[in-house]
Amino acid sequence: MPEEFDVIVIGAGSVGNPTAYFLAREGLRVLVLDELAASGQGQNKAAIGGVRATHSDPAKITLCRESLEIFAGWKDATGTDIGWKKGGYCFPAFDEKVEATVRGLLPTQKRYRLNIDWLDAPEIERIVPGINPDGLRGGTYSPDDGQVSPLLAAESFTGEAAKRGAKFRYREPVRALLREDHAVVGVETDRGQYRAATVVNAAGVAANRISALAGLDLPILPDSHEGGISAPIRPFLDPLVVDLRPGPEGRTLNFYFGQNSEGQIIFCYTPRPVIPGESRDSTYEFMPIVAARMVEVVPRLKNLTIRRVWRGLYPMTPDGSPIVGRAPGVDGFVLGVGMCGQGFMLGPGVGKCLAALITHGAPSIPSEVFDLLSPSRDLYAGKKEALK
Ligand SMILES: Cc1cc2nc3c(=O)[nH]c(=O)nc-3n(C[C@H](O)[C@H](O)[C@H](O)COP(=O)(O)OP(=O)(O)OC[C@H]3O[C@@H](n4cnc5c(N)ncnc54)[C@H](O)[C@@H]3O)c2cc1C
Repeated sequence: MPEEFDVIVIGAGSVGNPTAYFLAREGLRVLVLDELAASGQGQNKAAIGGVRATHSDPAKITLCRESLEIFAGWKDATGTDIGWKKGGYCFPAFDEKVEATVRGLLPTQKRYRLNIDWLDAPEIERIVPGINPDGLRGGTYSPDDGQVSPLLAAESFTGEAAKRGAKFRYREPVRALLREDHAVVGVETDRGQYRAATVVNAAGVAANRISALAGLDLPILPDSHEGGISAPIRPFLDPLVVDLRPGPEGRTLNFYFGQNSEGQIIFCYTPRPVIPGESRDSTYEFMPIVAARMVEVVPRLKNLTIRRVWRGLYPMTPDGSPIVGRAPGVDGFVLGVGMCGQGFMLGPGVGKCLAALITHGAPSIPSEVFDLLSPSRDLYAGKKEALK
């Protein structure tokens, strides 16, 4: 007889771990399966740990406000330090176009209760000490955003879920979904079968492969991004800084960096054109380009020692927003997928909503906002997240 659970979560990653935690907190019997050897070893560990509610999409703003509350209160709630640092996010504007973009988003962001404002250039210079003043027009600053260690967070969500009875099984890839009529009723791995009333697809870049097992075609395609981290330096920088200008070398779009709770500088950029596919080999151009961009924005960082670089994947959707909710036409199958470049910051908010949806029939944020991420929406409607 297959072992029985209330919910099976496929993927112990940025979304799967908090989902398991909130489900177990509701008293449900939860099984989490991952094909890798430990929790958070998929794209979760590629994230640099930026957590912001500063988006253009109301659902992402609202979910990330939930995430921020969970991350900020985690140490008090559990006694575990996950490297939370409340330093905010700053989008400096060095040209008219960026100023128009970030100022243009403020009405929506404020309508969804984001604590954010436009600051003039001297105030941005105070918040980002050493920022290049040439052409600086001002910028937005959202002080309640912050940073968390993705490695510590994965371990802690897993530990807290396990304390509440959730079971985690690693090196156990899901190969098939058990189906009865129009419902998913369990999963099959290479070690056996498990049954549950609900199966959650939180499989990251493999989400389309898992959904295909239920007959669903989800347009989630990976593209790759590089990140890096320095040796620690004396703390001087509170916010994560996002420079939305395309790079002068013609190979990059936005570039972002910050200093984490241990004093290390973490950094990333968005390559231009995007690099589709699943390759994770480091490119020869990342360090020279990122170094030039960093020193251009904050010249005092020119002597930084770089510890490590890596390349990971974004599970991208056509409109740059996640796909979250009950799968259309397949009972018992729930999706927490297509997180693009923001799955770590969305994870706890998404997990809390999915747990509420599964347990109580409604998400923990207003349904009309949550439904903006519905799997049934038109993913090609043209509306795109402006702060990807
Ligand atoms: C360089 C870089 C920097 C980033 N920085 C940030 C950041 O600052 N903030 C942020 O929010 N996001 C960031 N991201 C994006 C973030 O890493 C992803 O959006 C997020 O990790 C995706 O979460 P997920 O839960 O969907 O996938 P994952 O965390 O990858 O979890 C999916 C899990 O499913 C498992 N799985 C897959 N197939 C199967 C199967 N068949 N059976 C069992 N298990 C399976 C995988 O092993 C994996 O553990 C960054 C990404 C990169 C590459």
